[in-house]
Amino acid sequence: MVGAAITKKNRKFAEYPNFTEKKTYRPEGVKETGLAFIGHEISEDGKTMNQLLHYDQLYTIRHGWNSKFFKGLLEGKIWGTKCPKCGDKWVPVRTHCWNLDCNLEKTEWVEMPLTAKVHTWTIAGWSGRSSLKRLPIVLVYAVIGESKVAIANELYGIDPWDVEFDMNLKIVFKPREERSGIVTDFHFEPTNNWKPSPMNEEKERIKQLVEPIYGWVKTLK
Ligand SMILES: [Zn+2]
Repeated sequence: MVGAAITKKNRKFAEYPNFTEKKTYRPEGVKETGLAFIGHEISEDGKTMNQLLHYDQLYTIRHGWNSKFFKGLLEGKIWGTKCPKCGDKWVPVRTHCWNLDCNLEKTEWVEMPLTAKVHTWTIAGWSGRSSLKRLPIVLVYAVIGESKVAIANELYGIDPWDVEFDMNLKIVFKPREERSGIVTDFHFEPTNNWKPSPMNEEKERIKQLVEPIYGWVKTLK
């Protein structure tokens, strides 16, 4: 008989962790009902139907080798990774170096400074319901420390028309008891000594685009 026997390999990459430190943010009264159709409504003229789907699932996001970054957020720290061969650093973190010469070298953890620079940004004039009253929102891609990549987050404390490329930012964390180990535990703000540059044609153009949003938000209850 030709051919090799196929043997099942039970390769185990890591032991199952023993989770001893738990915290739940789940609102009171939410039940694990999974996906369920919980009702429907039909319009008066009988032409339109809405189906009500209750969507309540518990997801577990295992951060694996990236866990230190998310644990760091709980502590008000930004951890990045660094390639021991070429020295490149990353936030968001990479577990292995992306430079071809480094042959997927495993990276090391390095604590990053709580300072960043604007790489690029956008001004959101619309959002999900939970953020409508905070519009307009400035979303930046910012480079933390010497990172080779940028991370997205909100920029507070600035009029949207005053944002500039490469402007210096600081990272501001929520109070410790409000942190959940997620990227919204922090946001960006301009550094303390920052002053907006004088108005110019482009800033005026953005200001005119953004001003109706402030007016509209005031009408929200
Ligand atoms: Zn490298």
